[in-house]
Amino acid sequence: MICPDCEGKGTVIALVDGAHYRGPMSISCSRCNGTGEAGAQDERWLGIGGTHRTWRVAQHEGLQECAVRLGIPLAELLAMESGRADPARLLLDTPEELRATDGGTAPDRGLSPQQLDEALAWLLK
Ligand SMILES: [Zn+2]
Repeated sequence: MICPDCEGKGTVIALVDGAHYRGPMSISCSRCNGTGEAGAQDERWLGIGGTHRTWRVAQHEGLQECAVRLGIPLAELLAMESGRADPARLLLDTPEELRATDGGTAPDRGLSPQQLDEALAWLLK
């Protein structure tokens, strides 16, 4: 499977804002370690995470609410939905359980800028 982050190139473009350089910079892809190939585990995690995100959005559940419901940090939920962390935790909570607890009508509150910063910092570390 070709790495979905770098599309097989092994590098991704990151925006650098430092004292000596400011602008786009090519860095080694962190998902595939620069190989351009994603393994079977990446494929499985991406499949599970992507399915969960599709389901969550269909339920109108926001990322923050979902993280609270699962009892995990927001950044961890983002990582699992993007295939960067083991999504096993996502599989424990079934759609039926969610509907039983809140009727599946929870509004999407979205993320505050601070939460977004924290999530990105966690993903990029
Ligand atoms: Zn890659």
